[in-house]
Amino acid sequence: MLSTMMRTPLTLSHLLERAGRLFPTSEIVTRMPDRSLHRYTYADFYRRSRALAEALQKAGMQPGDRVATLSWNTSAHLEAYFGIPVAGGVLHTLNLRLHPTDIAYIINHAEDRFLIVDDVLLKLYEAIKDHINVEKVIVVPLTGQPVPAGLTSYEDFLATATGDFRYPELAEDTALGMCYTSGTTGKPKGVVYSHRSMILHSLGSALPDALNLAQGDVLTPVVPMFHVMAWGLPFTGIMVGCKIAMPGPHLDAVNLLDLYESEQVTKTAGVPTIWMGVLQALQKEPTRWKILPMEMVVGGAAAPEAMIRAYDTFNLKVVHAWGMTEMSPLGTVSRTKHNLVGSDPDMLYALRACQGIPMPLVEVRAMNEHGAAPWDGQTMGELEVRGPWVAQSYFKLESERDKWSADGWFRTGDVVTISSEGYVKITDRTKDLIKSGGEWISSLDLENLLMGHPAVREAAVIAVTHPRWDERPLAAIVLKEGATATVEELRAYLEPKVAKFWIPDAFVFVDEIPRTSTGKFLKMQLRDTFKDWHWES
Ligand code: ADP
Repeated sequence: MLSTMMRTPLTLSHLLERAGRLFPTSEIVTRMPDRSLHRYTYADFYRRSRALAEALQKAGMQPGDRVATLSWNTSAHLEAYFGIPVAGGVLHTLNLRLHPTDIAYIINHAEDRFLIVDDVLLKLYEAIKDHINVEKVIVVPLTGQPVPAGLTSYEDFLATATGDFRYPELAEDTALGMCYTSGTTGKPKGVVYSHRSMILHSLGSALPDALNLAQGDVLTPVVPMFHVMAWGLPFTGIMVGCKIAMPGPHLDAVNLLDLYESEQVTKTAGVPTIWMGVLQALQKEPTRWKILPMEMVVGGAAAPEAMIRAYDTFNLKVVHAWGMTEMSPLGTVSRTKHNLVGSDPDMLYALRACQGIPMPLVEVRAMNEHGAAPWDGQTMGELEVRGPWVAQSYFKLESERDKWSADGWFRTGDVVTISSEGYVKITDRTKDLIKSGGEWISSLDLENLLMGHPAVREAAVIAVTHPRWDERPLAAIVLKEGATATVEELRAYLEPKVAKFWIPDAFVFVDEIPRTSTGKFLKMQLRDTFKDWHWES
C-alpha cells in the first residue's frame, strides 16, 4: 500500500529560504586576512547567496556545471556553498594545501567551468592557470586590493544580479557538490554529494547525540571548507540558524582562542593537530582567555585519550567523531550511552577516545575472512558502511569498483573492532597494520599510548620489514620542547599497558612527523624513510 504522504524533494533551497525567513538577525563573522572581524547577518547572507545564484545563471551556468572554489572559511565561501547548488550548479571545493599539479589535475578531472578564488590565494591560481581550462575566474577581494586585469571581482559579479532569482526545480538526487579525497592512500578520488544526501546528513549531524547543534549555538568550523565540506557544518549551521564565526586564513592557536573568546563560541570542530596546538597555548597561559564551556568535535585522525582528558580540565569537552570524504563525512560519534553513565571513569575515557557509535541511518559491520566479526570489542575486521549519505561510486573512476562489496557496502579501509554496545574502535588503516609473526599489532593504539607519556608530543608507529617476524613496529617520536625521555623509559612505560610483542623494537627520535595536507601522519613517507632499517639481532 502506498503512503498518503507528500514527496517534496530534499533540496538546499529549503534551508536557504528557512535561514532568510526565520533567522535574518543571526550573525556571520569572518576573521579577515588582516585579522579584523567582518560581520553581517543571515539577511545579508541570504541576499548575497541568491545574488550569486542569479549571477551564475546570467553568466551561462547550466545545470550540472561545476563551479570550483579555492577559498578559506569565510562568509563569501558560505555564499558559494548555497548560491552555486540552489542555481543547479555543483560546488567543487578545492584543497588549497595540495600541490599545484594535483589541484590542476583535480580541476581538469572534474571539468570545472567557473572558479571562485580568494585574492590571498591568487599566487596559487597563477601556479595552475596555464594547466587548466576554466572559462571564468571570479576573485573574492578579501584584502580590498584591486582585482588583477582580466579577472572578475566577486563584488562586480554579484552586482550583475537584479534580485529576481527564482529557484530552478531540482530533483533531490541532483548533484550538489563534490570533493576529492585528500589522497592519503593514492590518487585523489572524486565523490559527488546530492541535495538529498546533504540534507539528510545535516539533519543527522545536528542531533544532540551527534554534533549537537541548535539555533542558540555559536559555531566555529576550523576544519577547512575545502576539506569534506567542513564536515557538512556550513549546511548544518545554516539549517539550525545559529551564529557562525569563521576563522578565515588564521588557524593558529592564539587567533582561534581570541575568536572563541570574542564571539562566545559554543561549538567548534577540527583535526587533532589543531587541537594539540590550542591545548599547548592554553596550558602555557591558562588564564588568558575567557572561553565558554565549549564542545570541540575532533575527527579526521584519532584523538589521543590524553588530549581528551587534558581538555576536560579546562571545561572544554572533546567529542570524537569518525568519518570519510565518501561519507559526507559523518559516520560515528562517541558520546556516552545513557546506560553507561556512572561506569568506571577510565573505561568512559577509553570509550570517548574510540570513534563512537554509528549515526542514525548509518549501518556498520566489520568484515574479516570469516565474514562479519562479532560485536565483542576484540575481533578485528575491515569496517564497511552503508547509508543514504555514503557514496556508491567515485566520479569517473571505474577502476575503484572493488571499494564496494558485492552486496553494496562501502569498504572504508579502516580496521576496527565493534563492542557489544556498538562502539567502533579503529585499530588501523588496512595499509598501516603491522603483522608480526602472524599476529596483528595496532599502530594507532601504540601511538595513542605513547602520546600519553608526559615527554612525548607526537608518536607515529609503522611496520618495518623484519627477517624473522615479517614486520616489527618502529616508533618515530617527537619530544615536547625541553622534555627528555630515553628509549628504555618509553619501553618501560608501554610494558604494563600492552602485550609484550606489541612493544616497538625501535624508537627513533625525530624533529617532526611528516603530515598530509589535512594534518594526518604521512606513514607512506615514514615507511620509505625507514625501509632499510637495520634491526640489531
Ligand atoms: P583520505 O583517505 O584522503 O585521508 P579522508 O580525509 O576522507 O580521506 O579521511 C578518512 C580517513 O581518516 C578514515 O578512513 C580514517 O582512516 C581516518 N579518520 C577519520 N576520522 C578518524 C578518527 N576519528 N579516528 C581515526 N581515524 C580517523
